[in-house]
Amino acid sequence: MEASIMDGLGRRCGAVSGLTTVKNPVSLARLVMDKSPHSYLAFSGAEDFAKQMGVEREENDYFITEDNMEMLKIAKEANSIVFDYRIPTTGYESCGVEVESPILMNGLPISVYAPETVGCVVVDSQGRCAAATSTGGLMNKRAGRIGDSPLIGAGTYASDICGVSCTGEGEAIIRGTLAREVGAVMEYKGLGLQEAVDFVIKERLDEGQAGLIAVSKTGEVAYGFNCVGMFRGCATEDGFMEVGIWE
Ligand code: ASP
Repeated sequence: MEASIMDGLGRRCGAVSGLTTVKNPVSLARLVMDKSPHSYLAFSGAEDFAKQMGVEREENDYFITEDNMEMLKIAKEANSIVFDYRIPTTGYESCGVEVESPILMNGLPISVYAPETVGCVVVDSQGRCAAATSTGGLMNKRAGRIGDSPLIGAGTYASDICGVSCTGEGEAIIRGTLAREVGAVMEYKGLGLQEAVDFVIKERLDEGQAGLIAVSKTGEVAYGFNCVGMFRGCATEDGFMEVGIWE
């Protein structure tokens, strides 16, 4: 598991990766930010820090479910990296979505793309933005593989202008430094939040499949993705609530 968090106020950040026992990786990322002199701890050093901080930990088998074991077996047999198996690979027609088959990543087939990483972006009444992202990465990833989620600027970014969290094909998100790009085009091209999100999804992903959620200091909320769907929700202090999957 891996995670990161960034507080736009003062651009403080913390990140962790290579975790096998920490129940809530994003909480550990926050402790790296708040209680260590560092920005990013990984593997045994991150586990040691978790022990030292007394965060909730579980035996490794807590994280292993029968469903996941089954899916890992299928993924290994297919020599494939899988994003989310709970999304049916057919039946999209009723939602008006067209799916190409098979979708390839780095030349290997993947399931219909619907990322499952959890990200959160917030803006408060004073325009302060923050972002966090937490993930188990990709099914059948290589041991030692680090994705975009713990990488500040790639999977997570917050500044005095916006907060951004990404999901999707980590390798493509890293190449596009996606989260930071949203902030950069707002800053240097003067784009509004949704315009910035649209620009980055269109211009920075090449063939990669990904999506992101974002907020701005003026309280705008935006999202974008070039994959089939992206689970998302939005809540505001005046009671507005919305959830969505498809475009
Ligand atoms: N971005 C994550 C990764 O590549 C996966 C995901 O979003 O589902 O590790």
